[in-house]
Amino acid sequence: MPSPSRYEKMKYQRCGKSGVLLPRISLGLWHNFGDVDTVATQRGLIAHAFDLGITHFDLANNYGPPAGSAEINFGRILREDLAAYRDEMIISSKAGYYMYPGPYGEWGSRKYLIASLDQSLKRMGLEYVDIFYHHRPDPNTPLEETMGALDHAVRQGKALYVGISNYRPEDTRRAAAILKGLGTPCLIHQPKYNMLDRWIENGLTTVLEEEGIGCIPFSPLAQGQLTDRYLKEIPSDSRAGRGGFLKTPEVEKNLPKIRALNAIAANRSQPLAEMALAWILRLPQVTSALIGASSITQLDTNVKVLERLEFSAEELAAIEAILRG
Ligand code: NDP
Repeated sequence: MPSPSRYEKMKYQRCGKSGVLLPRISLGLWHNFGDVDTVATQRGLIAHAFDLGITHFDLANNYGPPAGSAEINFGRILREDLAAYRDEMIISSKAGYYMYPGPYGEWGSRKYLIASLDQSLKRMGLEYVDIFYHHRPDPNTPLEETMGALDHAVRQGKALYVGISNYRPEDTRRAAAILKGLGTPCLIHQPKYNMLDRWIENGLTTVLEEEGIGCIPFSPLAQGQLTDRYLKEIPSDSRAGRGGFLKTPEVEKNLPKIRALNAIAANRSQPLAEMALAWILRLPQVTSALIGASSITQLDTNVKVLERLEFSAEELAAIEAILRG
């Protein structure tokens, strides 16, 4: 039974110019929800996130491993523990990266997107997702076809809203125009954004503002680097320690910056993870920070950011100096 006080502390922000409010912290299931992860931990994380007022859960066809297993596991947890609360949740999925062999199992064709969404719905046991994303731009498929497929998904009743991910500013503007013409506005953009990767500040946020599109940055903690996880060592149970998308040499290269940022966070009496999240939430275009978490303690820490979002001009300048250094 979810906590009756779950909506008291979380803050919600309007997503672009839409009717949708998203929690300022959302939970992604890229890691920690595959068949390689323990079911009890997954169940605990989803239940606890929902208790904290996190209403948005982000998936994709290929999350696991193996690909597809995160959707299956999430679907089971939803069915067994939270079925009565489906209408209180925003559940998203995506297609774009490699999912199955042959010419129709990745990128941006109508053939792939519609089939993949059907597969995702089956895996999760859902009739519809709230948001269906094109996961990455496809240089070889006409944007009209890809956006047409997103629009079709909405008309089929299989998605309520659509979004794009990893699109550069100019392609975002074109995609938004095509979707507007079709009568299915682009709800949201999901880019990578954190203190160590600031590309969206060079044009994307302006486009999102002008087009009224929300923004939900992924990897806001740089996969755990912008936390206390790696300050002393590379723990064997950490993402870098397990060896995957985050590599030890990358962490080691960033450590001087991470340590300097940690000192500023300490002066604010805030863990580095919270400061890193507050820092991305400072942009008015950012609707929600899309975190990952491997434990309930991490979820609790990250949600506490809402108690201290403000920065002084001096703090921002000191952070800027470190990031540019
Ligand atoms: P984060 O940058 O938030 O990294 C999450 C990881 O950081 C956790 O798994 C944990 O790692 C560590 N961590 C989190 N909080 C803390 C804390 N308080 N203290 C110490 N360590 C902490 O995000 P992700 O990279 O996981 O991405 C989030 C979501 O974004 C994904 O689940 C997915 O939904 C989406 N995404 C989308 C992409 C796209 O192309 N559209 C690409 C990538 C992600 P550890 O396991 O070491 O404990």
